[in-house]
Amino acid sequence: MVMREQDPMGADALSSSAPASVVVDASDAGSGDDKRASSSSSDPASRPAAIKPPKLRLHIQDLAHPGTAKFLRVVPNAGDLLAQAVGDIDRLLYRPPDGSKKQGTRPHAPPTRSVTLVLEDMDGVAYTTGSDLDDDHKEIHFSLRYIDSIHPEELLASEIRGVLTHELVHCYQWNACGTCPGGLIEGVADWVRLRCGLEPPHWRKHPDGDWASGYEQTAYFLQYLETRFGPGTVQEINAKMRRHKYRGGAFWCKLLGKTVDELYANYVKEVTGGEGDGEGDRSDDESCS
Ligand SMILES: [Zn+2]
Repeated sequence: MVMREQDPMGADALSSSAPASVVVDASDAGSGDDKRASSSSSDPASRPAAIKPPKLRLHIQDLAHPGTAKFLRVVPNAGDLLAQAVGDIDRLLYRPPDGSKKQGTRPHAPPTRSVTLVLEDMDGVAYTTGSDLDDDHKEIHFSLRYIDSIHPEELLASEIRGVLTHELVHCYQWNACGTCPGGLIEGVADWVRLRCGLEPPHWRKHPDGDWASGYEQTAYFLQYLETRFGPGTVQEINAKMRRHKYRGGAFWCKLLGKTVDELYANYVKEVTGGEGDGEGDRSDDESCS
């Protein structure tokens, strides 16, 4: 679940100063105004959230780091940002879309009880891990060096929010009892980011690659499946990984009636201007028999 979208630009390591920690109760998760995702306003308010609002904590490892000042300037309330991202994940991965027929799976999210955001001077971009004590308590480590390297300045807020949304998905997505391919894990995380309108400007569809390459490449493929098979398809993919181990052939055939290679080939045809089979049904396919 380590995210390495791009090499961070160097910022000199500074001597550490006293860490600062803040604890926020996210009981208002998802209640913030969401101007980015069009489907947010259509959620019935009566539906209970699948994700129980976690305890949110902020730990700043180095107040003197220039990345810290940038973070605090564009994220004055990290608790609100994280809580709204949790609400987005609940909506996109666990609430059946309005009008969707895909409501056969009861929504259950992993029981993450707390999320600690650790801002620290490190290589890379960000990663998520369980805490030393209990896997129900997660830590998101976010590189101050990377935050300091984000240019232009106008991208700072959306990039921070995008990275944190991606990492928070890792706290609340299923992983097929640890057997899910890493590319699919990362693809679901970036699909949520994509659906939140937080994709960075450098993201592109790469139809020459592999469906399981992860990140935006898999995210755009998942969005293709969402469009082709209907809203809620990615929810079903996530839900299927709650209790079942991942077995490539059976996983996709039982869910969508085709092998993932066939699905990806159709996606590539669409992206490149060719023609797929164009059918959204789940008819039997020889390759799935
Ligand atoms: Zn990731």
